[in-house]
Amino acid sequence: MSFFAERCGAWGAAASERLLREVQERGLERVRVAFADLHGLQRGKTLMPAALQGALENGVGVVSTLLLKDSSDRTAFKVFEPGALDGLPGFGHANNLVLVPDPSSFTTLPWAPGTGWLRGDLFFDDGRPVAVEPRRVLRAAVEALAGAGFGLVCGLEVEFHVYRIVDDGLDPAQADWPGEAPRVQLLHPGWQLLGEAHADRAEEALAVVQRTAQGLGLPLRSLEIELGPSQVEAVFDPCDALTAADRMVAFRNGVKQALRRAGYHATFVCRPPFDNVMASGWHLHQSLVELASGHNAFVRERPAGRPDEATQWLSDTGAQWLAGLLAHAAGATALAVPTVNGYGRFRPNAMAPMAALWARDHRGAMLRVLGGAGDAATRIENRVGEPLANPYLYLASQVFAGLDGLARRLVPPPAAAEVYGGHGEPLPTSLAAALDAFAADAVLQQGLGAPLAHLYDTVKRHEIARHAVAGDALAWERREYFARY
Ligand code: GLU
Ligand code: MG
Repeated sequence: MSFFAERCGAWGAAASERLLREVQERGLERVRVAFADLHGLQRGKTLMPAALQGALENGVGVVSTLLLKDSSDRTAFKVFEPGALDGLPGFGHANNLVLVPDPSSFTTLPWAPGTGWLRGDLFFDDGRPVAVEPRRVLRAAVEALAGAGFGLVCGLEVEFHVYRIVDDGLDPAQADWPGEAPRVQLLHPGWQLLGEAHADRAEEALAVVQRTAQGLGLPLRSLEIELGPSQVEAVFDPCDALTAADRMVAFRNGVKQALRRAGYHATFVCRPPFDNVMASGWHLHQSLVELASGHNAFVRERPAGRPDEATQWLSDTGAQWLAGLLAHAAGATALAVPTVNGYGRFRPNAMAPMAALWARDHRGAMLRVLGGAGDAATRIENRVGEPLANPYLYLASQVFAGLDGLARRLVPPPAAAEVYGGHGEPLPTSLAAALDAFAADAVLQQGLGAPLAHLYDTVKRHEIARHAVAGDALAWERREYFARY
């Protein structure tokens, strides 16, 4: 009788043996096995070393509702009612999924002594892969792109907020679902963009961020003071899309835990629930690598076309990719900005976009084109996303949008001369409107797959409905997003 992992094609004998040896040699006391849920949050179990071999061979059972939860952890489907899960083949009455650890993902956690970590892939108990697992969705997207001869290269710029914890808010008498957020103090008062004195004030906390990112092997380039009170930014070197998404999840996960241990509260919510804040964006730099040659496929030899045409700066491939991102901007916003809170960011003159437009080196445009003829670093920066986006789903949306641009040889409109004040196709102004646009976008629906589209729509509308009936919307966002993400 073969192992479960063997039957579902996830077994590597040599890699598993190496891992078991390493865990023993390092004297690790425990190993966490995790996967990223629909919100990009890590979930899993902590295994004792003696249980690791069994887990590698036969996986770890986890309840399937883990993939059906909204941002408060409420299951958005009535899983015990007949027909409730018709659109999600394989999901049953809180049945088991099998989490199979991938030995190649092994790392130790820099903030948690004696603790190893493994990412797992989810399977149904008959060995079929769980297609709606977000990481699997991006893997499928990357494979489709490779079929066209390209790889997506992504560079991350992540804005977020870090506060000092004054009171943990963990009084058992106040426990609730979801619980109250900690009471916090600012790390720096803000309104001194890139100010060195602010960086100095924030250094103790930012050193924790640095050690965590580097300890996890993430290619951190810089840590910066952003404009808003207690707002900071981390910038990473580019890498392939799947690795970039893994790194975004690892960064958020690690930074929150490590800072918490040091007495700080990190949050990736776009607009923390205070009067005086600046919204956080997640700026996603992207280019294509030609897999055969290793060259940046967005680079052209010399400018072509009129002064406001994309071919001044980008190759024909780059211009088509740009046009694909614009054509699917409204639908992709549902994945780039997945919270009710994130839509408060789209304001004029706030360096956040309001319309599906592009322009050269323009921080008010959704797509900021950088580089130009002969420049190997030529790329498109998509400024639409918020840092809470599930990176697997957001990046997958970019792949399918861009691929459609290539397949149909779309030609982008001229560069925007003005970006605010009603110019260009407006971006959705609410999560509900973005979900409508996603539902109406056949390319994204097909790319991400009907089950994932159904799952995402149901979970997010569940969240919207709960927000709509909340008496105090700010308190809802504080508990639901600020405290937890
Ligand atoms: N915080 C702005 C945003 O919401 C971006 C500011 C910047 O360009 O650094 O995207
Ligand atoms: Mg910034």
